[in-house]
Amino acid sequence: MHELAVLADSVAGCTKCRLSQGRTQVVFGSGHPQADLMFVGEAPGFHEDKQGVPFVGQAGKLLDQLLAGIGLTRSDVFVANVLKCRPPGNRDPQTDEIQACEGHLWKQIELIQPKVVATLGNFATKLLSGKPLGITRVHGQEQEVVLGGSRVVLYPIFHPAAALYTPRMLEVLQTDFSRLPELLGRTAVPPPEPVAIALQPRTAEPEPVQLGLF
Ligand code: URA
Repeated sequence: MHELAVLADSVAGCTKCRLSQGRTQVVFGSGHPQADLMFVGEAPGFHEDKQGVPFVGQAGKLLDQLLAGIGLTRSDVFVANVLKCRPPGNRDPQTDEIQACEGHLWKQIELIQPKVVATLGNFATKLLSGKPLGITRVHGQEQEVVLGGSRVVLYPIFHPAAALYTPRMLEVLQTDFSRLPELLGRTAVPPPEPVAIALQPRTAEPEPVQLGLF
């Protein structure tokens, strides 16, 4: 069994914090176990808790669209959250819950070894950057950090849910997403096929007109 699957099995029974009491199941994360690009969101919501998969609700649909915009699908990337269990009523994660859960995320990063970790929103950004700067200040600004024992590019992005409430945010998200291919070290869209340009047969050039100065 892949090491990540072993970790998922062990996290499935986690009782490190109070959220274990109200959950339907642990939402470990999903996607490619050796993805170059990993997303870290906040916490499972209602639908994620029911289905056991992160980002399956409205925000998840938007994440899928943003990924499609840069030529990727969910199976190309790995998606996880800071918290693996749903906070009641989708309230914000609490500090002690983050502390109890963060070890699972560090281990995931260590096993996946992504090149780029894109943090979605404030909670993931503050936890993984280790700094208190909020997402409005730092979105779209990559930085090299060591996470899970290896060097990664940390890239903060607004949480897709922000665009559900503020449609103008969609453009900001699209702009920030558009830099991901470059951060992953590849071109965004395959360059266009060279187009054969049909050359016009050369017509006889008119004789230059000698101006009568000399
Ligand atoms: N929001 C998150 O941050 N994570 C999910 O999995 C779903 C919504």
